[in-house]
Amino acid sequence: MNEEIKSIINKVKQSRNISLEQLKLLLEINDDEGVHFIREEAVKVCQKTYGNQVLIRGLIEFTNFCKNDCYYCGIRRSNSQADRYRLTKEQMLDCCANGYELGFRTFVLQGGEDGYFTDDKICDLVSAIKEKYSDCAVTLSIGEKSKESYKRYFDAGADRYLLRHETADEAHYKKLHPEEMSLAHRKQCLWDLKEIGYQVGCGFMVGSPGQTVETLYEDLQFIRELQPHMVGIGPFISQKDTPFADKASGTMEQTLKLLAIIRLIHPHVLLPATTALGTIHPKGRELGILSGANVVMPNLSPVNVREKYKLYDNKICTGNEAAECRYCMENRMKSIGYEVAVSRGDYIE
Ligand code: SAH
Repeated sequence: MNEEIKSIINKVKQSRNISLEQLKLLLEINDDEGVHFIREEAVKVCQKTYGNQVLIRGLIEFTNFCKNDCYYCGIRRSNSQADRYRLTKEQMLDCCANGYELGFRTFVLQGGEDGYFTDDKICDLVSAIKEKYSDCAVTLSIGEKSKESYKRYFDAGADRYLLRHETADEAHYKKLHPEEMSLAHRKQCLWDLKEIGYQVGCGFMVGSPGQTVETLYEDLQFIRELQPHMVGIGPFISQKDTPFADKASGTMEQTLKLLAIIRLIHPHVLLPATTALGTIHPKGRELGILSGANVVMPNLSPVNVREKYKLYDNKICTGNEAAECRYCMENRMKSIGYEVAVSRGDYIE
């Protein structure tokens, strides 16, 4: 195999950094041997810390109302085709009860930026979950809020926060979002979350319209700067009722390579093999784990709302009960020699 590529991969691994030139070369690898090598290296790095354990998080998609209008997203406010819903507190606690039985020890509450869920309501939900399940971690993924709000959720018991930065390039950010949103604010939110003491996750879509090697390089530099505990990446997938309906989706190959590159730079980071990756390829999540990812996030949302949380088209698992997803995941992971861990799945230093 190409010795130059091998030596770049080793350098990236040792320096925990990458140059634009190196990134270009790694993203251009297209021979089987090269792709295999980078993914194997990433898996080895990951196994040093996490062994053959895959960490699971139970995802509860609790509202698809959103005040934002991101061009890529199926639940953007201008999408009049979206069938809007909100879960009640009782429904969410039922999801947790079901999830707890199934071995989940961390719940991720994700939703659009929905004004109905005031800070008081969010705090009430978080403390109700923590009260019942004190051995579980609660993760919020509800967008951009003030530092005061983040602090309140944290004091109510929230442990982690996911807020993908989407792209670290100013001009690219503008292509993906309307005027009223800004990269500076999104980044500020991430710094605020970190300062408050959350375990923080950032991330981006692979193959979003206008993404280039240069913007990806900026993503990787931003991740190095922020040093998050988690990095969520998955392919962009077009959604038919958005302005990006006709844009090409990201590819599995690029996503796998980027997962591997991120793993090489961040040996300990929590890295999910996302539902979007499972959507563009039937074995996407398994291949994600076999490229250095170590987290999966099966859906715990009630089956009757799953179809409605449509960030992108053809989303998988919308017809399955939580228990089916849980066991399906266990079997998928077993098939590649991994075990699903019944634990909070904390970051390991
Ligand atoms: N409102 C929350 C949660 C957003 S949904 C927030 O702002 O963080 C979670 C992630 O789904 C987004 O951050 C985005 O990266 C991803 N997403 C949205 N639309 C998508 C699409 N069409 N294809 C793939 N991923 C998408």
